[in-house]
Amino acid sequence: MKKVIVAFDVSTREELIQLLDQFQTPIYVKLGMEAIYSFGFDILDEVAKRNHDIFLDLKLHDIPNTVKKAMRSIAKYPIQMVNVHAAGGSEMMKAAVQGLEEGSNGKQRPLCIAVTQLTSTDQKMMNEELKIAGNVKACVLDYAKLAKDSGMDGVVCSVHEVKDIHAVCGDDFLTVTPGIRLASDSADDQKRVATPTYAYEQGSNYIVVGRSITTSSDVTKTYQMISEMMEGK
Ligand code: C5P
Repeated sequence: MKKVIVAFDVSTREELIQLLDQFQTPIYVKLGMEAIYSFGFDILDEVAKRNHDIFLDLKLHDIPNTVKKAMRSIAKYPIQMVNVHAAGGSEMMKAAVQGLEEGSNGKQRPLCIAVTQLTSTDQKMMNEELKIAGNVKACVLDYAKLAKDSGMDGVVCSVHEVKDIHAVCGDDFLTVTPGIRLASDSADDQKRVATPTYAYEQGSNYIVVGRSITTSSDVTKTYQMISEMMEGK
């Protein structure tokens, strides 16, 4: 199983193709709003025809009916994983899964995971602006429980919350963790970073890695090294 999801955060189609060309064997690619809004949904076919798996990181958050209909359409694209915001609530998350099932026409539907709290949200902002009391970790755990009860396959969270989430929601409930850096890397704008080895030790199911791979001098070698770390090597 591919446990490393490479974040293709690129702003031109040329950059994206150039990056794709470096991977001759199938990997797991994350494409988000930036890529889709810039290049359109056709880019998914371009990636899928190279046999890569795709995590479509669009973070849906709207009324349940709109999310259901959007997911019905999204399910028709060649993707393996998509996401919503847990803050949209249980009805919205259930509607997302229903939409994916309806759109998949009997085929296996894409996995649906919920974003708990963005890593750009700190406690002060969460308490004072979003008006959610308590600390971020407690909120992430509550959202993870809600996501599980609403039929989500897992959550996006930080490595530091993986153990608690698996303890509460079970080992089958997927944890997808960004904020990954090699010990030799700079943290850039990420605040709570962890190494791939630490992510593996904590039981993270998938790590999302962007710049540590995409800006490295040998992209495929770095990808290979990080993949081995996620296999406990
Ligand atoms: O370059 P870097 O490894 O920091 O990229 C991490 C990727 O994970 C980016 O695409 C970023 O948008 C995404 N992400 C994140 N934190 C979250 C959710 C998604 O860094 N909470």
